[in-house]
Amino acid sequence: QKAEWAKLVNEKTVSADGHHVELAANIGTPKDLKGVIRNGGEGVGLYRTEFLYMGRDQLPTEDEQFEAYKAVLEGMEGKPVVVRTLDIGGDKELPYLSLPKEMNPFLGYRAIRLCLEEQDIFRTQLRALLRASQYGNLKIMFPMIATLGEFRQAKAILLEEKQKLIDAGNKIAEQIEVGIMVEIPSTAVMADTFAKEVDFFSIGTNDLIQYTMAADRMNERISYLYQPYNPAILRLVKMVIDAAHKEGKWAGMCGEMAGDEIAIPVLLGLGLDEFSMSATSILKARSLIRKLSQEDMKSLAESVLTLETNQDVMNAVKRATENI
Ligand code: PEP
Ligand code: MG
Repeated sequence: QKAEWAKLVNEKTVSADGHHVELAANIGTPKDLKGVIRNGGEGVGLYRTEFLYMGRDQLPTEDEQFEAYKAVLEGMEGKPVVVRTLDIGGDKELPYLSLPKEMNPFLGYRAIRLCLEEQDIFRTQLRALLRASQYGNLKIMFPMIATLGEFRQAKAILLEEKQKLIDAGNKIAEQIEVGIMVEIPSTAVMADTFAKEVDFFSIGTNDLIQYTMAADRMNERISYLYQPYNPAILRLVKMVIDAAHKEGKWAGMCGEMAGDEIAIPVLLGLGLDEFSMSATSILKARSLIRKLSQEDMKSLAESVLTLETNQDVMNAVKRATENI
């Protein structure tokens, strides 16, 4: 099997009936790029920039960030690179920010909420990204967006910094897509509205499942509620993909679910455009998708959306794909 996968490193990801999707990788640092190339990643679908900020005692400077972003963009040689702006808070703390303890950190002051408040931190990161943009195919993504207002505010700040850099004579890529992570149910439900303003969606199922099921993703006692195939989750995913396509935008997924063998057939059938996963899952996923017919998976997806439970969906997918 490993030998079969190895042959797929330079292949495109095309279903048995000719439908193309993009298989991208999740990375945490520029060092992860080697693995992405080795495993045939067609892009970076999620660069978690918080690692630049962690394990140290002060904020990274604009230049330090610029170098990291430039390295990733150059390393991917023009392939798409989705960089997520700082997603700190929840389970990831920055001791040097000395933020007050919260009762519910996952529901608290984190990610875009913090960035819109601590604007110096946010603007520094955006400037570093904009300056690096000329070295590849950069797409900027905001995490934990719950309202359209947050997205508009974040985008306005980005455009302000861009104009300032241009006025100061910096070279910035002409075309930088700006999108959001869909990991909060309100945003999935309002995806049709968001789709008119964002350039793309990337569904963050790790958090979307946690918030939809009201089940802490770190709490083992309630891990049975972490149900990626629950029709409640699948219906939200469908809403997001359909909303994107209606406006001519693309929809990806960068939560763990994107690399899951039971989920992949359903996601392919729902029309997901980009799957971002750990690099080591890419070749296996490519091999699977090449054996699936997108038309057949469309019918499968339609039928599993009407099922009742996580387990029912799992059984149905296994039955439909057992001969491949
Ligand atoms: C997610 O929530 O699915 C996601 C990809 O982000 P993180 O795992 O970094 O919260
Ligand atoms: Mg998340």
